[in-house]
Amino acid sequence: MKELKELIRKNILALKPYSSARDEYAGRQANVFLDANENPFNQPFNRYPDPLQLELKQLIAPIKGVETSQIFLGNGSDEAIDLVYRVFCEPRIDNVVAIDPTYGMYETCADINDIEYRKVKLDISYQFKAETLLSVCDRHTKVIFLCTPNNPTGNNLDRNEIEKVIDRFDGIVVIDEAYSDFSNAKTFRSELNKYPNIIVLNTFSKAWGSAAIRLGLAFASPEIISYFNKVKYPYNVNQLTQNQAKDILSNMSLFHKNLVQILEERESLIQAFKQLPICVKVYPTDANFFLTKVTDAQKIYDYLVDRGIIVRNRSKITLCEDCLRITIGTKQENTELLSALRQYK
Ligand SMILES: *Cc1c(COP(=O)(O)O)cnc(C)c1O
Repeated sequence: MKELKELIRKNILALKPYSSARDEYAGRQANVFLDANENPFNQPFNRYPDPLQLELKQLIAPIKGVETSQIFLGNGSDEAIDLVYRVFCEPRIDNVVAIDPTYGMYETCADINDIEYRKVKLDISYQFKAETLLSVCDRHTKVIFLCTPNNPTGNNLDRNEIEKVIDRFDGIVVIDEAYSDFSNAKTFRSELNKYPNIIVLNTFSKAWGSAAIRLGLAFASPEIISYFNKVKYPYNVNQLTQNQAKDILSNMSLFHKNLVQILEERESLIQAFKQLPICVKVYPTDANFFLTKVTDAQKIYDYLVDRGIIVRNRSKITLCEDCLRITIGTKQENTELLSALRQYK
Protein backbone atom coordinates (compact mmCIF):
# COMPACT_ATOMS: atom_id res chain seq x y z
CA MET A 1 0.00 0.00 0.00
CA LYS A 2 1.08 3.56 -0.71
CA GLU A 3 1.25 5.99 2.20
CA LEU A 4 -2.31 7.04 3.06
CA LYS A 5 -1.33 10.67 2.49
CA GLU A 6 -0.43 9.83 -1.13
CA LEU A 7 -3.87 8.32 -1.68
CA ILE A 8 -5.96 11.10 -0.15
CA ARG A 9 -6.90 14.02 -2.42
CA LYS A 10 -4.75 17.10 -1.83
CA ASN A 11 -7.72 19.37 -1.04
CA ILE A 12 -8.97 16.89 1.55
CA LEU A 13 -5.55 16.60 3.18
CA ALA A 14 -5.51 20.38 3.46
CA LEU A 15 -9.17 20.73 4.46
CA LYS A 16 -9.96 22.50 7.68
CA PRO A 17 -13.21 20.74 8.64
CA TYR A 18 -16.33 22.62 9.63
CA SER A 19 -16.46 22.85 13.39
CA SER A 20 -19.94 22.63 14.83
CA ALA A 21 -21.03 24.03 18.18
CA ARG A 22 -21.31 20.49 19.56
CA ASP A 23 -17.79 19.57 18.32
CA GLU A 24 -16.27 22.43 20.26
CA TYR A 25 -17.84 21.68 23.61
CA ALA A 26 -17.09 17.96 23.02
CA GLY A 27 -19.08 16.34 25.77
CA ARG A 28 -17.87 18.17 28.88
CA GLN A 29 -20.45 18.34 31.66
CA ALA A 30 -23.03 21.07 31.14
CA ASN A 31 -26.75 21.59 31.52
CA VAL A 32 -27.39 24.95 29.91
CA PHE A 33 -26.91 24.83 26.16
CA LEU A 34 -26.96 28.28 24.59
CA ASP A 35 -24.32 27.59 21.96
CA ALA A 36 -26.07 26.20 18.89
CA ASN A 37 -29.03 28.50 18.29
CA GLU A 38 -31.38 25.63 19.05
CA ASN A 39 -34.93 26.19 20.20
CA PRO A 40 -35.34 25.55 23.95
CA PHE A 41 -38.78 23.99 23.34
CA ASN A 42 -39.91 20.78 21.60
CA GLN A 43 -37.65 18.44 23.55
CA PRO A 44 -35.99 16.08 22.81
CA PHE A 45 -35.98 16.93 19.11
CA ASN A 46 -34.76 20.50 19.61
CA ARG A 47 -31.13 19.43 20.06
CA TYR A 48 -28.61 18.60 17.34
CA PRO A 49 -27.59 14.93 17.48
CA ASP A 50 -24.09 13.70 18.34
CA PRO A 51 -22.10 14.32 15.12
CA LEU A 52 -19.93 11.23 15.72
CA GLN A 53 -22.72 8.99 17.11
CA LEU A 54 -20.48 7.71 19.92
CA GLU A 55 -23.14 5.93 22.00
CA LEU A 56 -24.40 4.07 18.96
CA LYS A 57 -20.86 3.12 17.92
CA GLN A 58 -20.23 1.79 21.43
CA LEU A 59 -23.17 -0.61 20.96
CA ILE A 60 -22.04 -1.63 17.47
CA ALA A 61 -18.33 -2.17 18.25
CA PRO A 62 -18.64 -5.37 20.34
CA ILE A 63 -21.29 -6.84 18.02
CA LYS A 64 -19.08 -6.32 14.99
CA GLY A 65 -15.79 -7.07 16.77
CA VAL A 66 -14.12 -3.73 16.01
CA GLU A 67 -13.05 -0.59 17.88
CA THR A 68 -15.30 2.49 17.85
CA SER A 69 -12.43 4.36 16.13
CA GLN A 70 -12.72 1.88 13.23
CA ILE A 71 -16.41 2.70 12.59
CA PHE A 72 -17.96 5.30 10.30
CA LEU A 73 -21.76 5.68 10.28
CA GLY A 74 -23.55 7.27 7.37
CA ASN A 75 -26.86 7.95 5.68
CA GLY A 76 -26.94 4.44 4.19
CA SER A 77 -23.92 2.68 2.67
CA ASP A 78 -24.50 5.05 -0.20
CA GLU A 79 -22.97 7.87 1.85
CA ALA A 80 -19.87 5.76 2.54
CA ILE A 81 -19.54 4.88 -1.14
CA ASP A 82 -19.80 8.55 -2.10
CA LEU A 83 -17.22 9.49 0.56
CA VAL A 84 -14.76 6.97 -0.88
CA TYR A 85 -14.79 8.99 -4.10
CA ARG A 86 -14.76 12.39 -2.43
CA VAL A 87 -11.87 11.49 -0.13
CA PHE A 88 -9.63 9.51 -2.50
CA CYS A 89 -10.41 10.31 -6.13
CA GLU A 90 -9.37 13.41 -8.06
CA PRO A 91 -12.10 14.13 -10.63
CA ARG A 92 -10.99 13.58 -14.26
CA ILE A 93 -7.59 12.27 -13.16
CA ASP A 94 -8.06 9.22 -10.95
CA ASN A 95 -9.98 6.05 -11.75
CA VAL A 96 -11.51 3.09 -9.89
CA VAL A 97 -11.83 -0.57 -10.89
CA ALA A 98 -14.76 -2.88 -10.17
CA ILE A 99 -16.16 -6.25 -11.16
CA ASP A 100 -19.07 -6.45 -13.60
CA PRO A 101 -21.89 -7.13 -12.89
CA THR A 102 -22.08 -5.65 -9.41
CA TYR A 103 -23.99 -3.12 -7.28
CA GLY A 104 -24.96 -0.13 -9.43
CA MET A 105 -24.18 2.62 -6.92
CA TYR A 106 -20.39 2.32 -7.41
CA GLU A 107 -20.73 3.38 -11.04
CA THR A 108 -23.43 6.02 -10.43
CA CYS A 109 -21.29 7.61 -7.71
CA ALA A 110 -18.24 7.52 -10.02
CA ASP A 111 -20.26 9.33 -12.69
CA ILE A 112 -21.52 11.95 -10.24
CA ASN A 113 -17.99 12.60 -9.02
CA ASP A 114 -16.57 12.56 -12.57
CA ILE A 115 -14.27 9.62 -11.91
CA GLU A 116 -13.42 7.06 -14.58
CA TYR A 117 -15.00 3.68 -13.73
CA ARG A 118 -13.25 0.60 -15.16
CA LYS A 119 -15.20 -2.66 -15.30
CA VAL A 120 -13.79 -6.17 -15.35
CA LYS A 121 -16.27 -8.79 -16.48
CA LEU A 122 -16.74 -11.76 -14.15
CA ASP A 123 -16.38 -15.29 -15.55
CA ILE A 124 -19.44 -17.48 -16.17
CA SER A 125 -19.38 -18.67 -12.54
CA TYR A 126 -19.51 -15.00 -11.48
CA GLN A 127 -15.94 -15.19 -10.13
CA PHE A 128 -12.85 -13.13 -10.94
CA LYS A 129 -9.06 -13.46 -11.00
CA ALA A 130 -6.97 -10.95 -9.04
CA GLU A 131 -4.52 -10.77 -11.94
CA THR A 132 -7.21 -9.64 -14.40
CA LEU A 133 -8.42 -6.91 -12.04
CA LEU A 134 -4.88 -5.71 -11.31
CA SER A 135 -3.99 -5.68 -15.02
CA VAL A 136 -6.44 -2.84 -15.71
CA CYS A 137 -5.08 -0.72 -12.82
CA ASP A 138 -2.59 2.06 -13.46
CA ARG A 139 -0.92 4.73 -11.33
CA HIS A 140 -4.19 6.68 -11.19
CA THR A 141 -6.25 3.76 -9.87
CA LYS A 142 -7.11 4.72 -6.29
CA VAL A 143 -9.82 2.22 -5.40
CA ILE A 144 -10.99 -1.30 -6.26
CA PHE A 145 -14.63 -2.16 -5.43
CA LEU A 146 -15.53 -5.75 -4.52
CA CYS A 147 -18.95 -6.86 -3.35
CA THR A 148 -19.26 -10.18 -1.53
CA PRO A 149 -21.82 -11.74 -1.52
CA ASN A 150 -22.18 -9.95 -4.83
CA ASN A 151 -25.33 -8.17 -5.99
CA PRO A 152 -27.09 -9.13 -8.32
CA THR A 153 -25.42 -12.55 -8.61
CA GLY A 154 -25.80 -13.57 -4.92
CA ASN A 155 -22.54 -15.54 -4.61
CA ASN A 156 -19.53 -14.98 -2.40
CA LEU A 157 -16.42 -13.99 -4.32
CA ASP A 158 -13.39 -16.27 -4.08
CA ARG A 159 -11.62 -15.31 -0.84
CA ASN A 160 -8.15 -16.23 -2.17
CA GLU A 161 -8.54 -13.84 -5.07
CA ILE A 162 -9.79 -11.05 -2.79
CA GLU A 163 -6.76 -11.54 -0.54
CA LYS A 164 -4.43 -11.41 -3.55
CA VAL A 165 -6.00 -8.11 -4.60
CA ILE A 166 -5.58 -6.67 -1.09
CA ASP A 167 -1.96 -7.86 -0.91
CA ARG A 168 -0.86 -6.64 -4.33
CA PHE A 169 -2.88 -3.47 -4.93
CA ASP A 170 -1.24 -0.29 -3.62
CA GLY A 171 -4.51 1.65 -3.21
CA ILE A 172 -7.77 1.15 -1.30
CA VAL A 173 -9.89 -2.01 -1.58
CA VAL A 174 -13.57 -1.53 -0.70
CA ILE A 175 -15.27 -4.79 0.28
CA ASP A 176 -19.03 -4.37 0.38
CA GLU A 177 -20.42 -6.99 2.76
CA ALA A 178 -24.02 -5.73 2.75
CA TYR A 179 -25.24 -9.35 2.65
CA SER A 180 -22.57 -11.08 4.76
CA ASP A 181 -24.97 -11.85 7.62
CA PHE A 182 -26.77 -14.27 5.30
CA SER A 183 -23.51 -16.12 4.62
CA ASN A 184 -21.20 -18.35 6.63
CA ALA A 185 -18.09 -16.91 4.99
CA LYS A 186 -15.60 -15.21 7.27
CA THR A 187 -15.97 -11.42 7.16
CA PHE A 188 -13.11 -9.10 6.19
CA ARG A 189 -14.05 -6.90 9.16
CA SER A 190 -11.93 -9.22 11.28
CA GLU A 191 -8.88 -8.47 9.07
CA LEU A 192 -8.88 -4.72 9.65
CA ASN A 193 -5.76 -4.82 11.80
CA LYS A 194 -3.94 -6.94 9.22
CA TYR A 195 -4.89 -4.84 6.16
CA PRO A 196 -4.66 -1.04 6.54
CA ASN A 197 -5.89 -0.55 2.94
CA ILE A 198 -9.37 -2.09 3.23
CA ILE A 199 -12.73 -0.46 3.83
CA VAL A 200 -15.50 -2.93 4.71
CA LEU A 201 -19.11 -1.83 4.18
CA ASN A 202 -22.14 -3.05 6.13
CA THR A 203 -25.69 -1.76 6.29
CA PHE A 204 -28.80 -1.77 8.47
CA SER A 205 -30.89 -2.16 5.29
CA LYS A 206 -30.74 -5.94 4.82
CA ALA A 207 -30.16 -8.40 7.70
CA TRP A 208 -31.10 -5.73 10.27
CA GLY A 209 -34.40 -5.10 8.50
CA SER A 210 -34.08 -1.32 8.71
CA ALA A 211 -33.78 0.10 5.20
CA ALA A 212 -36.14 2.94 6.17
CA ILE A 213 -33.84 4.46 8.80
CA ARG A 214 -30.92 4.88 6.34
CA LEU A 215 -27.94 3.69 8.32
CA GLY A 216 -24.80 2.41 6.65
CA LEU A 217 -21.49 1.40 8.22
CA ALA A 218 -17.91 1.50 7.04
CA PHE A 219 -15.10 -0.22 8.94
CA ALA A 220 -11.51 0.84 8.30
CA SER A 221 -8.33 2.03 10.01
CA PRO A 222 -8.84 4.95 12.41
CA GLU A 223 -6.85 7.11 9.96
CA ILE A 224 -9.22 6.42 7.06
CA ILE A 225 -12.24 6.88 9.35
CA SER A 226 -10.89 10.27 10.45
CA TYR A 227 -10.81 11.46 6.81
CA PHE A 228 -14.40 10.28 6.34
CA ASN A 229 -15.40 12.23 9.45
CA LYS A 230 -13.64 15.31 8.15
CA VAL A 231 -15.57 15.29 4.86
CA LYS A 232 -19.05 14.08 5.89
CA TYR A 233 -21.90 16.47 6.68
CA PRO A 234 -21.64 17.37 10.39
CA TYR A 235 -24.97 15.79 11.44
CA ASN A 236 -25.19 13.06 8.79
CA VAL A 237 -27.08 10.55 10.98
CA ASN A 238 -30.18 12.08 12.52
CA GLN A 239 -31.39 11.47 16.08
CA LEU A 240 -34.43 9.37 15.08
CA THR A 241 -32.14 7.01 13.19
CA GLN A 242 -29.67 6.80 16.06
CA ASN A 243 -32.50 6.04 18.53
CA GLN A 244 -34.08 3.42 16.30
CA ALA A 245 -30.71 1.75 15.64
CA LYS A 246 -30.07 1.48 19.39
CA ASP A 247 -33.49 -0.15 19.77
CA ILE A 248 -32.78 -2.69 17.08
CA LEU A 249 -29.37 -3.52 18.52
CA SER A 250 -30.91 -4.14 21.91
CA ASN A 251 -32.93 -7.05 20.55
CA MET A 252 -30.37 -9.45 19.14
CA SER A 253 -32.64 -12.45 19.62
CA LEU A 254 -35.22 -10.96 17.24
CA PHE A 255 -32.42 -10.29 14.74
CA HIS A 256 -31.34 -13.94 14.90
CA LYS A 257 -34.88 -15.26 14.75
CA ASN A 258 -35.67 -13.27 11.61
CA LEU A 259 -32.35 -14.19 10.04
CA VAL A 260 -32.94 -17.91 10.59
CA GLN A 261 -36.41 -17.60 9.13
CA ILE A 262 -35.11 -15.89 5.99
CA LEU A 263 -32.42 -18.56 5.57
CA GLU A 264 -34.98 -21.36 5.94
CA GLU A 265 -37.31 -19.67 3.47
CA ARG A 266 -34.39 -19.21 1.05
CA GLU A 267 -33.88 -22.99 1.02
CA SER A 268 -37.51 -23.93 0.53
CA LEU A 269 -38.29 -21.18 -1.99
CA ILE A 270 -35.30 -22.15 -4.14
CA GLN A 271 -36.16 -25.86 -3.99
CA ALA A 272 -39.73 -25.14 -5.12
CA PHE A 273 -38.62 -22.55 -7.68
CA LYS A 274 -36.33 -25.07 -9.39
CA GLN A 275 -39.38 -27.27 -10.10
CA LEU A 276 -41.19 -24.51 -12.03
CA PRO A 277 -41.43 -24.96 -15.82
CA ILE A 278 -40.24 -21.34 -16.29
CA CYS A 279 -37.02 -21.93 -14.33
CA VAL A 280 -33.92 -22.59 -16.42
CA LYS A 281 -31.40 -22.19 -13.61
CA VAL A 282 -31.03 -20.89 -10.06
CA TYR A 283 -27.56 -19.51 -9.32
CA PRO A 284 -25.93 -20.32 -5.96
CA THR A 285 -26.63 -17.65 -3.35
CA ASP A 286 -25.19 -16.49 -0.03
CA ALA A 287 -27.58 -13.54 0.24
CA ASN A 288 -31.27 -12.86 0.99
CA PHE A 289 -32.09 -13.07 -2.72
CA PHE A 290 -31.32 -15.33 -5.62
CA LEU A 291 -30.65 -14.81 -9.29
CA THR A 292 -32.49 -17.10 -11.67
CA LYS A 293 -32.39 -17.61 -15.40
CA VAL A 294 -35.93 -18.08 -16.72
CA THR A 295 -37.51 -18.89 -20.08
CA ASP A 296 -38.45 -15.27 -20.82
CA ALA A 297 -37.54 -12.71 -18.15
CA GLN A 298 -39.41 -9.72 -19.58
CA LYS A 299 -42.69 -11.60 -20.11
CA ILE A 300 -42.55 -13.25 -16.70
CA TYR A 301 -41.66 -9.95 -15.05
CA ASP A 302 -44.67 -8.24 -16.71
CA TYR A 303 -46.93 -11.17 -15.82
CA LEU A 304 -45.94 -10.87 -12.15
CA VAL A 305 -46.42 -7.09 -12.12
CA ASP A 306 -49.96 -7.61 -13.41
CA ARG A 307 -50.54 -9.80 -10.36
CA GLY A 308 -49.09 -7.23 -7.98
CA ILE A 309 -45.82 -9.10 -7.46
CA ILE A 310 -42.62 -7.16 -8.10
CA VAL A 311 -39.28 -8.85 -8.67
CA ARG A 312 -36.18 -7.29 -10.26
CA ASN A 313 -35.65 -7.79 -13.97
CA ARG A 314 -31.86 -7.97 -14.40
CA SER A 315 -31.90 -9.27 -17.98
CA LYS A 316 -30.16 -6.18 -19.42
CA ILE A 317 -27.19 -6.55 -17.07
CA THR A 318 -23.85 -8.08 -18.13
CA LEU A 319 -23.93 -11.92 -17.93
CA CYS A 320 -27.56 -11.85 -16.73
CA GLU A 321 -29.53 -12.47 -19.90
CA ASP A 322 -33.09 -13.59 -19.05
CA CYS A 323 -32.36 -13.28 -15.36
CA LEU A 324 -34.65 -12.18 -12.55
CA ARG A 325 -33.41 -11.29 -9.09
CA ILE A 326 -35.83 -12.42 -6.42
CA THR A 327 -35.73 -11.31 -2.78
CA ILE A 328 -36.71 -13.83 -0.08
CA GLY A 329 -39.96 -12.67 1.51
CA THR A 330 -42.20 -14.10 4.20
CA LYS A 331 -43.55 -17.63 3.76
CA GLN A 332 -46.82 -16.15 2.56
CA GLU A 333 -45.19 -13.83 0.03
CA ASN A 334 -43.01 -16.63 -1.32
CA THR A 335 -46.04 -18.90 -1.63
CA GLU A 336 -47.90 -16.21 -3.58
CA LEU A 337 -44.97 -15.88 -5.96
CA LEU A 338 -44.79 -19.64 -6.52
CA SER A 339 -48.51 -20.07 -7.08
CA ALA A 340 -48.58 -17.18 -9.57
CA LEU A 341 -45.68 -18.72 -11.47
CA ARG A 342 -47.30 -22.17 -11.48
CA GLN A 343 -50.24 -20.62 -13.35
CA TYR A 344 -47.98 -18.92 -15.91
CA LYS A 345 -48.48 -20.13 -19.47
C1 LIG B 1 -28.62 -3.03 -0.54
C2 LIG B 1 -27.16 -2.82 -0.71
C3 LIG B 1 -26.49 -1.86 0.06
C4 LIG B 1 -27.23 -1.03 1.06
O1 LIG B 1 -27.24 0.28 0.75
P1 LIG B 1 -27.88 1.30 1.84
O2 LIG B 1 -27.57 2.62 1.24
O3 LIG B 1 -27.15 1.05 3.13
O4 LIG B 1 -29.33 0.98 1.95
C5 LIG B 1 -25.13 -1.73 -0.07
N1 LIG B 1 -24.44 -2.51 -0.93
C6 LIG B 1 -25.05 -3.43 -1.68
C7 LIG B 1 -24.25 -4.28 -2.58
C8 LIG B 1 -26.42 -3.60 -1.60
O5 LIG B 1 -27.02 -4.51 -2.38
